[in-house]
Amino acid sequence: MIVAIDGPSGTGKSSTSKAVAAQLGLSYLDTGAQYRAITWWMVHNGIDLTDPGAIADAAGKPGIVSGTDPLAPTITVDGADVSGPIRTTEVTSKVSAVSAVPEVRTRITELQRWIAESAEKGIVVEGRDIGTTVLPDADLKIFLTASPEARAARRSGELKGADVKATQEALIKRDAADSSRKTSPLAKADDAVEVDTTELTLQQVIECVVTLVEE
Ligand code: C5P
Repeated sequence: MIVAIDGPSGTGKSSTSKAVAAQLGLSYLDTGAQYRAITWWMVHNGIDLTDPGAIADAAGKPGIVSGTDPLAPTITVDGADVSGPIRTTEVTSKVSAVSAVPEVRTRITELQRWIAESAEKGIVVEGRDIGTTVLPDADLKIFLTASPEARAARRSGELKGADVKATQEALIKRDAADSSRKTSPLAKADDAVEVDTTELTLQQVIECVVTLVEE
């Protein structure tokens, strides 16, 4: 069973995907964490992120490993745990420039397919292009949406005390960059089920996805 969950930031993708995977005994892969990890490595190593050529040259260098237990997902770069550092505002503001580079996407997409194929009991994979590009034959595709206000409010809640308006502007900017890139942009697959989470609690979204998997 392969479940692809795509959508913009702040729609509850991660919380939903982890809970659904845990409830159904499936593995879990956070593909955003992989793009964040490669971005973190580039920032850490002084790669010029305004130069797509420099990003492309460095794309194969960091060794990225994702742990797929939904109750304790992990991400390491060259053996170092980067779960905390990949969530900084600096990485968040730079990740779209890195993830837009085709060499980065090719490398990370291959890794994602390998992880999904190796998951014995099945996997829930969350991202932006899973249903369209990474796993077009997934058994179930979900596309989560929510109003910009709801998404910003959720994100600023997670970031404890962050300004809702500034968070909303940053989210809109990142989604616009992710949706307009040439290689596998953020998009809903034609055969994905769209779930608008604006008026739903997390528990309701989880129940909705579990029901769709079990149908
Ligand atoms: O999901 P998260 O906010 O952690 O994703 C961080 C970034 O990684 C996104 O803004 C996007 O640029 C990139 N990403 C992507 N394709 C995916 C998952 C994430 O380009 N499948």
